[in-house]
Amino acid sequence: MLRVGEASERILAEIRALASEKVPLRAALGRVCAEEILATVTMPPWSNSSMDGYAVRSADITAVMKGEPVTLRVVGTIAAGDRAESPLKRGQAMRIMTGAPVPGGADTVIRKEDTDGGSAKVQIRDARDVWKNIRQAGEDFQRGDVLGRRGTPIRPALIGVLASTGIGKVNVFRRPRVALISSGNELVDIDDFDDVVAGRRIVSSNSYTLDALTRVAGGVPVDLGIAADTKASLRKKLEAAGGCDLIITSAGVSVGDLDHTRDVFAALGGKQIFWKVRMRPGAPLAFGLLNGVPWIGVSGNPVSAMVSFELFVRPALRKMQGHTSFFRRTVTVTLEEEVKIAAKLTHFLRAWVSRREDGTLTARLTGLQSSGALTSMAKANALLIVPETSQTVAKGAQLKALLLDQSTEETSGLAL
Ligand code: AMP
Ligand code: MG
Repeated sequence: MLRVGEASERILAEIRALASEKVPLRAALGRVCAEEILATVTMPPWSNSSMDGYAVRSADITAVMKGEPVTLRVVGTIAAGDRAESPLKRGQAMRIMTGAPVPGGADTVIRKEDTDGGSAKVQIRDARDVWKNIRQAGEDFQRGDVLGRRGTPIRPALIGVLASTGIGKVNVFRRPRVALISSGNELVDIDDFDDVVAGRRIVSSNSYTLDALTRVAGGVPVDLGIAADTKASLRKKLEAAGGCDLIITSAGVSVGDLDHTRDVFAALGGKQIFWKVRMRPGAPLAFGLLNGVPWIGVSGNPVSAMVSFELFVRPALRKMQGHTSFFRRTVTVTLEEEVKIAAKLTHFLRAWVSRREDGTLTARLTGLQSSGALTSMAKANALLIVPETSQTVAKGAQLKALLLDQSTEETSGLAL
């Protein structure tokens, strides 16, 4: 049995970033740049005012600095989108709006509040703005500057930067298409809920959680439905997965009489790289390549499937999408209750982690830790990691946890 870290390494060793594709700028959100992007223009393109006020020459307001108001002749008004017709001469001022080009000769914009607001003449009453309120041409970026690199994640601000430089389409790594195959004679989809009501079947909830996890991780789920626990049915589903970038099967990968997934995978020419990991939930994890396409077989237990996805599938999907960091960072948490584990395996317990006023993180378990109990997973925002060597961990002791989302950093009130 491999340790979790070894299993992860072996999987990622077989995963490559996918090819790139051009997508419209707005659709590039959350994707990763596949190539260096250079600025085609300079920003701002002209020196412009950061205030509504008066463009002046600092030499004309030296008296104001000594406390004497100065009156200048107003020779024009420049709005954003306009341009001054001539440079500013000695003794002159121009009314100027935020974003408007600063006229030649001006080196200062006095905010309107520090003047009498005049339109033919203006009295300058305060010189605190001398040399100020001008955004210099090119101070943000200059033509030829690198705005994004291969591997840069595209977030809202970068979308704006790319828009400013005229990039309407971005070359990003392709999203992985993820084949999802559930298996088990006991399973039906929601359409056949009558069988569930009749007490004969359960819904294949993994088809839904794995779909959701895939989408959250940036992948495109391709749901191939539910295979029966027969070799023929599994073969059909695995064959249908060709053309996808990753195959996820759920269930049928343990040691039960009807656990045929690994056999069928081998019979189709699949190369199994490992099976079983020293973890709970999710020990019966299989990994291999089927015609070069990576396959991760997760245990069917609803929580096992999700935990395995978090630990092994999500990093693989991130690597395929060109990300350079694949993993969630672990955080140190203080236990609000004693924690016990039974087996000598690394445990991932469903927990709620909160941030205290003093900034430290605390963890409590969210309920039943059976690998089938999905409601405690639904209530969790973290997986508490209990090393196999720590059978009992006291209340108040510290452990590591993997945060599954940002909820520890969110709060109901703005606390600045
Ligand atoms: P297996 O991995 O086939 O041994 O299944 C382990 C447990 O997970 C069994 O209790 C199955 O009924 C359950 N299970 C398997 N597949 C799914 C699924 N797609 N959705 C919900 N539960 C499942
Ligand atoms: Mg089964």
